[in-house]
Amino acid sequence: MKIDVLSLFPDMFTNVFGSSILKHAEESGAVSFRVVDFREYADNKHRKVDDYPYGGGAGMVLRAQPFFDAVDDLVKDQKKPRVVLLCPQGERYTQKKAEEFSKEEHLILLCGHYEGYDERVREHLVTDEVSIGDYVLTGGELGAMVIADSVTRLLPGVLGNEESAITDSFSTGILEHPHYTRPAEFRGMKVPDILLSGHHKNIDEWRHRESLKRTWERRPDLLEGKALSEKEQLWIEEFTRKE
Ligand code: SAM
Repeated sequence: MKIDVLSLFPDMFTNVFGSSILKHAEESGAVSFRVVDFREYADNKHRKVDDYPYGGGAGMVLRAQPFFDAVDDLVKDQKKPRVVLLCPQGERYTQKKAEEFSKEEHLILLCGHYEGYDERVREHLVTDEVSIGDYVLTGGELGAMVIADSVTRLLPGVLGNEESAITDSFSTGILEHPHYTRPAEFRGMKVPDILLSGHHKNIDEWRHRESLKRTWERRPDLLEGKALSEKEQLWIEEFTRKE
């Protein structure tokens, strides 16, 4: 998969794309990252990419021309990519969207800055507008990193243990169960006996129940409209009684 990023601050990506799993993913050929300096596409000698807003008001607006020219260039000879605009007004980014993007061959992530961008970018250039949460950042770079990271870890072969992406919170529709590692007792705090029992069927059932309990306690919205098995419904009745 190819992930291209268009940014005014390409240096911000060096450590993120050059560390840990993203670095290994690129070395293994699962993904290739390219961060393009937006200013390279400015059509003026001062490499100016922003201008005052028509109608007045605070802040500068990123001009349409560098966005259009950069995307034309990045798309050259390629199958139609997803062109994703980072935008606080966009659709809220979720694991489901990460899964959808991970099936694409080519993603182009457009990072805004200042007051935002000329509306014609939104209307005529992009295929998706994505927000990483209900708050306003200074630029789209952190959002682009969030998307690149969450998508890359879903690509085949990127995670050592493939299962870890399948059982992660949200991938299953609910939150993941708790984890413990050695020692079995630390400062008087014990690991649940069942995890030491070696009985895999019981351990799976315990994890399933804990997953559901955690979701019921912390994110009941994830359970709304979800089809629950008879056993899961009984567990929820138990959690409710104990409350
Ligand atoms: N004036 C804009 C508004 O009210 O919608 C906010 C502009 S913000 C200061 C500058 C840029 O940061 C945006 O164009 C976008 O690329 C990025 N950005 C800010 N918050 C974001 C969020 N929650 N999700 C994704 N991108 C965000």
